[in-house]
Amino acid sequence: MLTRQERAPIVPEEESNTKWRIVVNEDWCKGCGFCYTFCPREVLEKSDKFNTKGYYPPVATNIDRCVGCGLCEALCPDFAIHVEENEEHSKRGGK
Ligand code: SF4
Ligand code: SF4
Repeated sequence: MLTRQERAPIVPEEESNTKWRIVVNEDWCKGCGFCYTFCPREVLEKSDKFNTKGYYPPVATNIDRCVGCGLCEALCPDFAIHVEENEEHSKRGGK
């Protein structure tokens, strides 16, 4: 299991005012596209930058639309994407 520090947050915590955070271990991604194709809220898009393996990982371009359903995480065959509750949002009393 990776620690939070070992994962690369797509949306830095200080910039996110949403309840959910999408965290991607970019170098585990094999660019299958399941996460950004099947996200029911169109939160994710294919990055325009490739990872160290030459694949394009997802980017959470519409994080404010995320409902934390976890489908992206469940579908990823490489365990490269995770959904986390944004602790900063909770501390500020967000819902
Ligand atoms: S948790 Fe659900 S809504 Fe959020 S990015 Fe993943 S699939 Fe989309
Ligand atoms: S489902 Fe996983 S391996 Fe496929 S594009 Fe998304 S993060 Fe990468």
